[in-house]
Amino acid sequence: MADVTVLGGGLAGSEAAWQAAEAGCRVELWEMRPVKETPAHHTGLFAELVCSNSLGNRSPETASGLLKEELRLLGSVILRCADANAVPAGGALGVAREDFARDVTETVGSHPNIEVVRREAEDIPEGPVVIATGPLTSEALHRKIEELSGETLYFFDAASPIIHRDSIDDAIVYRASRYGRGEADYLNCPMDRETYYAFVEELATAELSPIKKFEEDMYFEGCLPVETIARRGPDTLRFGPMKPVGLPDPRTGREPFAVVQLRQDDAEGRLYNIVGFQTRLRWGEQKRVFRMIPGLQNAEFARFGVMHRNTYLPSNRMLEATMKIRDSISERPLFFAGQLTGVEGYVESTAMGYIAGTNAARVARGLEPLRWPGGTMMGALARYITTKEGTLQPINSNWGLVPAAPKRENGRRLSRQERRRRQAAMALAALEEFVEEVLRQPAAA
Ligand code: FAD
Repeated sequence: MADVTVLGGGLAGSEAAWQAAEAGCRVELWEMRPVKETPAHHTGLFAELVCSNSLGNRSPETASGLLKEELRLLGSVILRCADANAVPAGGALGVAREDFARDVTETVGSHPNIEVVRREAEDIPEGPVVIATGPLTSEALHRKIEELSGETLYFFDAASPIIHRDSIDDAIVYRASRYGRGEADYLNCPMDRETYYAFVEELATAELSPIKKFEEDMYFEGCLPVETIARRGPDTLRFGPMKPVGLPDPRTGREPFAVVQLRQDDAEGRLYNIVGFQTRLRWGEQKRVFRMIPGLQNAEFARFGVMHRNTYLPSNRMLEATMKIRDSISERPLFFAGQLTGVEGYVESTAMGYIAGTNAARVARGLEPLRWPGGTMMGALARYITTKEGTLQPINSNWGLVPAAPKRENGRRLSRQERRRRQAAMALAALEEFVEEVLRQPAAA
């Protein structure tokens, strides 16, 4: 029998299984794909990225970059595989989607302490368990978790279309990164005023895939479908995902009226996704409307955008910051990880997987689970989702979660960048101290 069972081989589950195995536990990792599919995944691989192939900003002076630095410092298997399969993506950590997932699958699957079990968990097994079945948790398990929490647990978000590179018109698009930062990794489709307003008009009125009545208006603000943004006003998109600032067209030297950006999606550069264009337009409508974008008039779609159910717990009422279920709800050694806990994003999900896997292994060895220091981005996220008052909305890493740096020093005003650098340095120092004095000292638990 396994010491720890992990349900779900996504980003969080793969990380959790790896950390528990590295701690010396025998781990069973249950993944239902390809035996049973989800509405968004396309392969049986672990850690499949269902929408964007970007894991967010690389710079440690951004909140997302800091979270990645913390995970690297701790030896995250997901970050190791992401770094090994990076593709050019300006300041972002973009990965070759399939190579990355294959790398995670092979690395995790070949750990001597991990046994991969391809089956759907329809109930929660005995013993220390990490539940990391993600936003598309299967129906049967979803019901079991609802029974535990006594609440309804879902909302909706959406994925962007992917286009074949050789169907993009190079006579119209141009390469550039915003403000010329880093390499010119993005393909940019310039729009003049007239084209832009005609496009927004069509987008706002195009036909949608049907959703059920009770599913309406359940979007997460950070991942709105592009047509929803278009419907909020004719100019909303050009101040959002279609903003042209810092992207002058080299042929005119001027910024276009609006820009649609495309980001490389695979290692070879044969596929590009439309940045920020999550959508639930009908597939035929996607073809018609997105081909109005200059440079995409002959676009061939490798994958259309889709919209799916998302599931998360009221972690603020259910979990401890260790990711363990509160004793008041269940005395079983149950841990939750990933998007299911109310964090939003690939790296945030991975981080909760790290905490849950480490702590499930500790409990399996008779040790107390650990709280990560609140001064780290990981610890701050865990604390936020488990202590938020009122309704918990999914949350990304952000600077408001970790202690602020002073605005002035010795009479000198510190720039925003300098303050971010200091916040990051403080967080990494707190994590290093935690690793030295607590995490690597099991007897002191
Ligand atoms: P997942 O990566 O989904 O992994 C969960 C795994 O559990 C899956 O492999 C699934 O097959 C398996 N599983 C489910 N039920 C069972 C069961 N009963 N038994 C066994 N296995 C089971 N985040 C971003 O950062 N950027 C994006 O662009 C983005 N786009 C998204 C688009 C869509 C359509 C959706 C649904 C989510 C998107 N997200 C995005 C959120 C994204 O899903 C999470 O950030 C991340 O994938 C969550 O990781 P996870 O490990 O929690 O879940």
